[in-house]
Amino acid sequence: MEHKTQLLVVGAGAAGLTAALYARRAGMDVIVLGRAPYGGQIAETAMIENYPALPLTDGYTFASALYQQAASLGAKLISAEVTGVLALSAQQRTLQTADGSKYTGEKLVLAVGAKRRKLGCPGEERLLGSGVSYCASCDGAFFRGKTVAVVGGGNTALEDALTLSALCERVYLIHRRDAFRGEKYLEEAVHKKQNIQPILQEEVAEIEGAQHVEAVRLKNRKEVLAVDGVFVAVGQEPDTALFRAFVNCDGGGYFIAGEDCKTNLPGVFAAGDCRTKLLRQIVTAAADGAVAAFSASQEVQSGM
Ligand SMILES: Cc1cc2nc3c(=O)[nH]c(=O)nc-3n(C[C@H](O)[C@H](O)[C@H](O)COP(=O)(O)OP(=O)(O)OC[C@H]3O[C@@H](n4cnc5c(N)ncnc54)[C@H](O)[C@@H]3O)c2cc1C
Repeated sequence: MEHKTQLLVVGAGAAGLTAALYARRAGMDVIVLGRAPYGGQIAETAMIENYPALPLTDGYTFASALYQQAASLGAKLISAEVTGVLALSAQQRTLQTADGSKYTGEKLVLAVGAKRRKLGCPGEERLLGSGVSYCASCDGAFFRGKTVAVVGGGNTALEDALTLSALCERVYLIHRRDAFRGEKYLEEAVHKKQNIQPILQEEVAEIEGAQHVEAVRLKNRKEVLAVDGVFVAVGQEPDTALFRAFVNCDGGGYFIAGEDCKTNLPGVFAAGDCRTKLLRQIVTAAADGAVAAFSASQEVQSGM
């Protein structure tokens, strides 16, 4: 089957769904192709406390509301995985989904998001949302006055440890190598904090706890540290592989696009966690979606 639309969006997370609703309000025909389940990372977020003016809510409720809002405005939301690029240039944008259908967009918003790397140790999946977190700026406030472990040794891990040290009584910073690999100024700031205890050349063998995180068991020294939370900061991977041959990306694989969300390819926009940016959160993903749709509708109106 072949489908044509004014705006084609890939990804039904916060960025893609917000792009859809802004584009519909600008009068564009919109198709969103999103891998099931819809909602992206927000759907797996146990508690959202930092979306402006929204009382504490769970991610599934948030994602469902956003999905309904885009659908009720007339966006065509299709549960499908984009598996191939048939044409991606300044002139044409045609993608193929797993069932062989073809979709062509006059404009294209890539809102394919990112995935946090996992530790892969026992307890990690089971206690996700019950003390295991991948986002200190999202969940740190739930651990006020408590003891937590941060796992990782790069900038994110160092920043997370610093963020958490302002809230928590004690922060263990566990890294498998003999030195951190983040920026020097962050490392110095970490060493100045009395309540951050670096543990180098060590890995987490297991995250323990019945209903909630209670401890981490270390691999090498076979020690058990009592903690209330574990923040995993071992990297993030953008889901951009399919498009990297066409759209310029940075060293980490993130689409290079500025605040206007425009990529190197005219008519192709990048929005949300898959874009180069400082802060990857729902509020910034939604903002990108709005800007990308606005930029796309402006181009359509001006006949570009
Ligand atoms: C556990 C956790 C807790 C978090 N807590 C918070 C919080 O409390 N507050 C906050 O602000 N932020 C939080 N975040 C971060 C926030 O969820 C993300 O920044 C935001 O949701 C990113 O939205 P996005 O639309 O850019 O990407 P994503 O949510 O990653 O959505 C992208 C979607 O595109 C789909 N996709 C990718 N490739 C294809 C393809 N080829 N074909 C079809 N579909 C495709 C993906 O499957 C996914 O559904 C949290 C993240 C996690 C993982």
